[in-house]
Amino acid sequence: MSDRLWAPWRMQFIRDSDRPAGCALCAYVGVEPSSEGRVLAREPHAFVVLNKFPYAAGHLLVVPTRHVASLEALTPDEHAALWALTTQSATRLERATGAEGLNLGMNLGRAAGAGIHEHLHVHLVPRWVGDNNFMPVVSDVRVMPEYLEATWEALCPHFAPGGAGL
Ligand SMILES: [Zn+2]
Repeated sequence: MSDRLWAPWRMQFIRDSDRPAGCALCAYVGVEPSSEGRVLAREPHAFVVLNKFPYAAGHLLVVPTRHVASLEALTPDEHAALWALTTQSATRLERATGAEGLNLGMNLGRAAGAGIHEHLHVHLVPRWVGDNNFMPVVSDVRVMPEYLEATWEALCPHFAPGGAGL
């Protein structure tokens, strides 16, 4: 295993000029948790979805339900919900993947590297020392749709209400 993160589909994201009009994150609003929809958890003010173009197995996005571009545009309730769901998701992701660390962050604005700069979202990326310990369930998968489905199936029990999560 390389000591670099392996994510060849990032190139597809960079080249993809056929993305549907409108907001890619608003497209998940109203989508119930499912492997096809890639949504892992949903609450009134925020939801968790697999990143369609992950940097590593288990790369999640925690997203406010309302389409806002900046932190200050969130209401206090939305801010609290987003942070609570981010905190829960970090714990669940560590338990589900056995990650030794997590990258947690936001890219605010296109200049900061945001792929979807108009809709705020928090990135959660599980990490391992040397990043040579990816989840075994997806270690042999080389096709992105299968990769996302396998990742969703592995994480789902930890995010389901009353499941193996918190
Ligand atoms: Zn949106």
